[in-house]
Amino acid sequence: MAFRNCIICKNNDNVESYCEQDGQLYVKCNSCGLIYVDDFASQSNMNKAYTGGGLKSFRRKLFGPIRRMRHISRAKHFTQRAEDIFKFVKNAYARPAEDKNYIDIGCNKGFLLEQAVKNEVNVYGVELVQELMTPFKNTYPKSKNGIFHERFSNVASKFDDEFFDIVTAMDVIEHFEDPLSDLKHICRILKSDGVFVIQTPDVDTKEAIEQKCAWGGLKPLEHLHLFGKSNFEKFANDAGFSDVIVCDPVEYGDGNFMAILKK
Ligand SMILES: [Zn+2]
Repeated sequence: MAFRNCIICKNNDNVESYCEQDGQLYVKCNSCGLIYVDDFASQSNMNKAYTGGGLKSFRRKLFGPIRRMRHISRAKHFTQRAEDIFKFVKNAYARPAEDKNYIDIGCNKGFLLEQAVKNEVNVYGVELVQELMTPFKNTYPKSKNGIFHERFSNVASKFDDEFFDIVTAMDVIEHFEDPLSDLKHICRILKSDGVFVIQTPDVDTKEAIEQKCAWGGLKPLEHLHLFGKSNFEKFANDAGFSDVIVCDPVEYGDGNFMAILKK
């Protein structure tokens, strides 16, 4: 059976089997280097991978109503990381961010949004696992109406064209089932002078190449498309971003790359 088309090259001319893991097959497009899951697992199996199974999810629901951001384990570490990343984002935006509209797609526990709140930015967030955001909502109740717990593709349609000044998606685009369509949505809701910042695993790193099937970036229930520094610009151009800067991550040596995208 033929492999699914590469979403960058739009064909499967140079696609071959790469690694099999958890009963799923990763294939690689040798024309552009994209590594991707050929045939996605069932929705229920993919959802299980996100909630981390029963116990963790149960505990979060049980203690959720009283938890604040400061109660999250390693809160200091996450805060420091978020400070560094938000500083990077503000530099990329290069203008005062006060009172601007910002959405963090895949906001997880909301540490980046917390930095934005502290910078007087209007915050919106998308997080599929609802209970992850409970401590954020308890800590910043004024911001909770902007938090959505649905797929980004559903959330995007709620916003007018050119609504956002800043969009971030840290460790998220590798999870998208249809990243080209999702990036087109982001392009539509981003202002013409706005900035979109991503971070995603880098298939071009030495570790990814040498470790091949043992590389930590391969998680076929979650990471459906894995890009590299070398192919990302072409992909982002296709989605409508004409100005794309691919760069090293804020946290050096973690196997990711970052990119700053403008229309
Ligand atoms: Zn390709």
